[in-house]
Amino acid sequence: MRPILPLCIALALAGVAPCSGSTAPSAQAPGDALAATVTTQLPRGVRPSHYAIEVAPDPGALRFEGRVKIDLEVLEATDRIVLQAVDMTFSDSALSDASGRSRAARVSVDAASQNVTFRFGRKLRPGTYTLSTRYAGRIGTQANGLFALDYPTSEGPKRALFTQFENSDARRFVPSWDEPFHKATFDLAVTARNGEMVVGNMPVSSAEDLGDDRRRVVFQTTPRMSTYLLFLAVGEFDRIAMGDDAGTEVGVIAQKGKVEQALYALDATGDILREYNDYFGVPYPLPKLDNIAAPGRSQFFSAMENWGAIFTFEHSLLLDPAMANMSDRQRVFSITAHEIAHQWFGNLVTMAWWDDLWLNEGFATWIAGRTTRKLNPEWDTSATRPAFSSRAAMEQDAYVTTHPVVQHVETVEQASQAFDGITYGKGAAVIAMLEDYVGEDAWREGVRSYIGRHAYGNAATDDLWQAMEQAAPGRQFLAVAHDFTRQSGIPLLRSSSACVEGRTVVNLEQGEFTLDRPGKTPLRWRVPVAVRVGDADPVRVLVDGKARVELPGCDAPARVNAGQKGYFRTLYAPEQFKSLVAGMAALPAVDQLGIMMDASALASAGLQPEADALNLAMQVPLDAVPELWQMVAATLGDVDALLEGNAGRQNAFRTMARKHLAVKFQTLGWELSDKDDAALRRLRTDLIRALGRFGDAAVLTEARRRYEASATEPAALPAALRRTVLGVVARSADAATWEHILRSARSETSALLRDQYYGLLASTTDAVLAQRALDMALTDEPGATTAAAMISGVSLEHPDLAFDFAVAHREQVDPLVDSTSRARYYPRLGGGSSRLDMAEKIRAFAEARIAPTSRRDADSAVAAIQTRVRLRQARLPQIEAWLTQQGI
Ligand SMILES: [Zn+2]
Repeated sequence: MRPILPLCIALALAGVAPCSGSTAPSAQAPGDALAATVTTQLPRGVRPSHYAIEVAPDPGALRFEGRVKIDLEVLEATDRIVLQAVDMTFSDSALSDASGRSRAARVSVDAASQNVTFRFGRKLRPGTYTLSTRYAGRIGTQANGLFALDYPTSEGPKRALFTQFENSDARRFVPSWDEPFHKATFDLAVTARNGEMVVGNMPVSSAEDLGDDRRRVVFQTTPRMSTYLLFLAVGEFDRIAMGDDAGTEVGVIAQKGKVEQALYALDATGDILREYNDYFGVPYPLPKLDNIAAPGRSQFFSAMENWGAIFTFEHSLLLDPAMANMSDRQRVFSITAHEIAHQWFGNLVTMAWWDDLWLNEGFATWIAGRTTRKLNPEWDTSATRPAFSSRAAMEQDAYVTTHPVVQHVETVEQASQAFDGITYGKGAAVIAMLEDYVGEDAWREGVRSYIGRHAYGNAATDDLWQAMEQAAPGRQFLAVAHDFTRQSGIPLLRSSSACVEGRTVVNLEQGEFTLDRPGKTPLRWRVPVAVRVGDADPVRVLVDGKARVELPGCDAPARVNAGQKGYFRTLYAPEQFKSLVAGMAALPAVDQLGIMMDASALASAGLQPEADALNLAMQVPLDAVPELWQMVAATLGDVDALLEGNAGRQNAFRTMARKHLAVKFQTLGWELSDKDDAALRRLRTDLIRALGRFGDAAVLTEARRRYEASATEPAALPAALRRTVLGVVARSADAATWEHILRSARSETSALLRDQYYGLLASTTDAVLAQRALDMALTDEPGATTAAAMISGVSLEHPDLAFDFAVAHREQVDPLVDSTSRARYYPRLGGGSSRLDMAEKIRAFAEARIAPTSRRDADSAVAAIQTRVRLRQARLPQIEAWLTQQGI
């Protein structure tokens, strides 16, 4: 799955891409040892092996009828069978044994524990049985279970159906052992109207006309898999497919008339499959792989890796020629690469329980990044990615509310909350570090052996580590891997260096970096560190507490974490830092970036002077790589936020910031050139946004001119600039401009563009217009899945307003948010506030409305506000002193 992370917002501000024909094999019995210990919310002793599901949806009534036959094995005598189901009623329930004898079942439902119990009056002996039942369930309007999405078209509104089951919503579609450990094979048959396409995990095996304008579509049997990977879509779709060179049929599916916009994703899918078939050493095992685009959005995720039938919201799959820019293209590629990686890591080999969710998500995030870079070398010419990847995850990891990569999960709500920046971002960063530690070849050998050994089964983190230890023996691999995955937090390496008899001696000492616990006793990590002088080969050392590294020569300063693959921050002694800064321009861009990012973070925690970070940003030369200038814009944005509430100082600062960024922007200009690479294009839009934010008159005027001209002259708003220009215009809109955008939203028949306009209405800095956007979110106008995004959109500029509004209208807002996301949705609205009373409000809301085991997002929002307020007070005197020094 690809989640919606608040981290992405921070990264977007920093200008960084956010995060983006075989037969079913015979069932393999799950490992008995794992079966006895794996966490479960169901009684042990009954095990499903095959489901035959038949459903008939009634989209108009938002209901469906179903029938299921489940082949199962009773391992211990029992008088009942308990499985999971939500919002269902049951009839005609019976159990038949191997000889065909059938007995009726009494059914009882426990809504609180999401269980249904079938009782038989007497004990069932161990053996194989078939449980059959009819049932009826609900079709939702938010993305969990079986759900409907309504969307505008030039022929009027349409409705299509989709499913979303991760982590625990297959139980809304079929009564089941809805836990990843209970793998089974699935037959699915669906009744649909003629003219609608029906999509499942597998190709269609037969279709029968029912004579009443409906037909019954039957899919081939799936391989053995977990319930959360089952998929169904029904709607008026188009499909384009092609064969890849390994014989897999790859396809893209979208609402009628839009599938051409998925051709880029289709091409990418072919390339990515080829790469993964090679990397994993096991070919993609299903006969087909579709990617289905759906209109609308979720507050929880953007794409889902259902086996053979990836689901992706249109905003992350389609490239509309009117609006798609380079970042959209990169996002489509990396999200597609992420979801396809899961076809192996997650689908073929699945975590036994949600404790190891990071195995799925950290790995998919890491290999998607690797594959995106490998197949698009022109996108990352300065190879700065490792610096961004590791530092992004550190934002969440620096707070007391963080958690280890591997964490114990007990409830389904906790499993939902595990889809966060640590699981994805830190998981991927730790893998990048471990791969660098053992070497690419050994790492791949370990991955291949792990996939081969556990195919069609389940595994835990230590199964992967075991394979790695065999591939790279004698490296203390397990100790390093455990230190970084079983405990939370960020190592801090203090570095000092001296010239001793013509050699550079670097002393390293490990501490811990936190933002909110200055006096904390550091944890212990075994940290792989690369130290390097100039272009010489890096010296690698495993730091356990302290280390002393000797390098030849004393001419150039030594840099720690060369290549920036290590998951730690480096605090240099003042002299060493000074000489690094002096020789900065000669360092690889990735190390320049890492040094800037660490200096910034260390300054905000009070460990290094603010002036160090600010001077570094101000001395980035005009011809530096675009990523360094993105960091400059981000640093200036950070200072600007700290000056909020001090209008005089802030205005003076903005004048300076505008001047500084405008010089760089002038070298790029508004007009695109074919020679601009991806990073340069990103930088152009970042600078337009930053200059707009700092109130640059020339940029604001030109953005408005282009917006107005575009009505008659489309070239004024090329796709590459469209989102950026509209964003600048909408953010600073007056009432007349806001109304104009609203008229565009109302007349738009493309779901993608329409959603974009409603999002723009929410992005205003004007409190009165923001209130109008909030009021509109509670009407039917923006649509069931866009409304919650509008409230979130308002919260970016007006966190207090958005939180208070959503809480005051909770009964209307709740149905706009998928139930799995509610515990995080409300706290996140207020999390960007700089007011301590908001921290109290969030705490009070959590205590009243959120189960104690599901309060991590609320706790994180409270910690973020309190730390923001405290750090602001601590940092301002130094920032102000620096500004005075600059004559501001
Ligand atoms: Zn994922």
